[in-house]
Amino acid sequence: MSRVSVLRSDPAEPRREPTTEVSPLSQYVLKLTSRCDLACDHCYVYEHPDQSWRRQPRVMAAATLRAAARRIAEHAAAHRLDTVRVVLHGGEPLLAGAAGLDAAAAELRRRIDPVTRLDLRMQTNGVLLTPQICDVLVAHDVKVGVSLDGDLAANDRHRRHANGASSHAAVRRALALLRRPAYRASYAGILCTIDLDNDPVRVYEALLAEQPPHIDFLLPHANWERPPPRPDGVATPYADWLLAIHRRWLADGRPVPIRLLESLLSTATGGTSRTEAVGLGFADLVVIETDGSFEQVDSLKSAYDGAAATGLDVFRHGVDDAAAHPMIAVRQSGLAGLCDTCRDCPVVRQCGGGLFAHRYRAGTGFDNPSVYCADLKELISAMAGTPAYVPAPRQGTDSLARDVLDDLAAGPGGAESAGQLASVHLAMVRALLVALSPHAADDPVAAAGWQLLVDLDVAAPDAVQAVLEHPFVRRWAQRCRDTATGDVSYLACLAAAAAIRAGVDADLDVPLTGGVLHLPTLGALTVAADARTARLAVDDGGVDVRVDGTRHRVRLDADAPAHWLPARHVRVGGRDLLIEDTDPYRDCYDLPVATRLGVADAARWTGQLDRALRRVDAEAAGYAPGLRILLRAVVPLRPDGSGTQRSAAAGAAFGAVALAPAPDDAALAVLLVHEVQHLKLNAVLDVCDLFDPDDERRLTVPWRTDPRPVEGALHGTYAHLAVADVWRHRPGPAAAAEFRRYRDWTDGAVDALLALGALTTAGHRFVRRMRDTLDSWP
Ligand code: SF4
Ligand code: SF4
Repeated sequence: MSRVSVLRSDPAEPRREPTTEVSPLSQYVLKLTSRCDLACDHCYVYEHPDQSWRRQPRVMAAATLRAAARRIAEHAAAHRLDTVRVVLHGGEPLLAGAAGLDAAAAELRRRIDPVTRLDLRMQTNGVLLTPQICDVLVAHDVKVGVSLDGDLAANDRHRRHANGASSHAAVRRALALLRRPAYRASYAGILCTIDLDNDPVRVYEALLAEQPPHIDFLLPHANWERPPPRPDGVATPYADWLLAIHRRWLADGRPVPIRLLESLLSTATGGTSRTEAVGLGFADLVVIETDGSFEQVDSLKSAYDGAAATGLDVFRHGVDDAAAHPMIAVRQSGLAGLCDTCRDCPVVRQCGGGLFAHRYRAGTGFDNPSVYCADLKELISAMAGTPAYVPAPRQGTDSLARDVLDDLAAGPGGAESAGQLASVHLAMVRALLVALSPHAADDPVAAAGWQLLVDLDVAAPDAVQAVLEHPFVRRWAQRCRDTATGDVSYLACLAAAAAIRAGVDADLDVPLTGGVLHLPTLGALTVAADARTARLAVDDGGVDVRVDGTRHRVRLDADAPAHWLPARHVRVGGRDLLIEDTDPYRDCYDLPVATRLGVADAARWTGQLDRALRRVDAEAAGYAPGLRILLRAVVPLRPDGSGTQRSAAAGAAFGAVALAPAPDDAALAVLLVHEVQHLKLNAVLDVCDLFDPDDERRLTVPWRTDPRPVEGALHGTYAHLAVADVWRHRPGPAAAAEFRRYRDWTDGAVDALLALGALTTAGHRFVRRMRDTLDSWP
């Protein structure tokens, strides 16, 4: 039965005139359970003044869940909301078990998906996470945030079991599970509550080691009645703690988005905040308790008993009623909802008065600045010199959303999906570089290169991004990571290329390979056969390279000297493309790559690529937008005189395809579409397990006589689906015959893949989408 709460107003609720207009609510915290398997002593649910959890049912009943889902859906439909976010919460939501979570997520999706986009999330302590539960989360596209306060000592300062036992190992096991390729798509990030007794940099390092897509730091809940500890009378210890992390984070090249810091950087330039903790954005959030009662944001429980209550519930009231509650409405009123002091504050647009719960004081209620006012001011002013930051590329680490995976699985995949794949890949390259950076410390050339790259990532992020997106940077980084043959000093070449692109003065040592200086995306300079390093200086007019007393001057905007081989950037089919015939890491295919092309050969390639890409636009319009984004480079293969069509793509070379000269433009157009499918699937498999990698069974596919491993069959099927589509749009009986051939091959392989039983849930869904595409063709 539902409990009917009594509406309780604090004696000093914020002054705000009642309004008849309701601002819709798009975020819901759904309490699946009201008990927890941990007994953290800083928990605002159990350890703060509000003790209403004692009156709540332990688990949300099915009828309550149905009513909640119905209310959310009807509110979203009435207000035509584009997206609704529901966070499964507790207590500890994993206490609901795999079956309970399955039922809850299925019910929410059943009710809300038809009305709006449902962004389904869960916040958990992670202790009870199992592969079985992860399967459920992936199946329903639930993104998971895990609470962790740092390393063993830091985490166990508060986050323990009731008997005092540590939770640290269990939480790390949960994070390791979420890092598995099969579950990575569900890994949303880590939430860490600050404790001044913990060393900030050690906490940061411990969290970074878990490779989270996001980190969120939370100030411990406090208010003017229960102020936070300020040891030794230090005025702004929380700002100091966060600034130590801020410095290290910048020095590391911002390897992971930190929500609080990024929100302050974003609001400093008029952008939006991504956390309720700062900024003037609307806090359009309501909590639904296990008994179905609507409550205000949970952190209010730290203020006084009953502070979060509204007296409303999902059985008798709609979400509109909750949105009209004065205490929920005031959190949606931006600047107008703040006290006079905050409204007059010079940093109010960044700070926003801090978290609502932190403003409480008996007598004046929430009509006060934050109890962290001094810290927030100090943090904002100390960060003021931080250059503006474009977080978009790192957002890719959030992995692929289910709708993106569905879009790609259908065959073409739109521009947005291709863009997400590219973002995910860029985030992987950044993560690889951060992982390599400790090795750079032992090599002075690499160390200086790394430092320059980190500085440029702040001063000229676009130039750094352009270099990191070069298809073969990942190949080099993987080789450094995986083998003893990798040359970590190549970091200096990346940094030099970024500095040149940015027009930033720089002076550093760079490594030579066989006497050649390689500058990815720019070209190669032949310097001296036996030298190992050169001194490179970038200035306004160009680049000076000195070795053994000899000076080579390169002006990138003027006629190139004979020893400078510029990268071949060409304009073909209305887009920019790199014909990559110089980069030292391009030999990553099973087929031998061509050496540097002569002028006539380069012109021939340019002409044929131009015509072939125009054919792609005309004959494979569905594939063209994705191909426009994903295809950045073509690597010419060495001609073998056989006339056989040869082409390749490699997982380590995102954005590049290797091609032998094709007999005609039409054949080249097909090869380009075919190989870009492999690029897409490789990038999907980087972050999403579509099949069980331990399953060694093989299957027979129509285009081969020998049985194929699942990965090979999947690649062939995905590529042939696209090739069939190209032929489908070409006229004439010969094209029709080709279409039927590829369609039948794809058809047979899809059936074989679905029947084998080696696909994961995501893989099954992926192949089913290919089947839907096939079935949609006449
Ligand atoms: S895990 Fe979360 S809900 Fe459970 S006791 Fe700790 S802080 Fe509270
Ligand atoms: S810094 Fe203090 S006064 Fe200024 S907006 Fe924040 S809480 Fe209010």
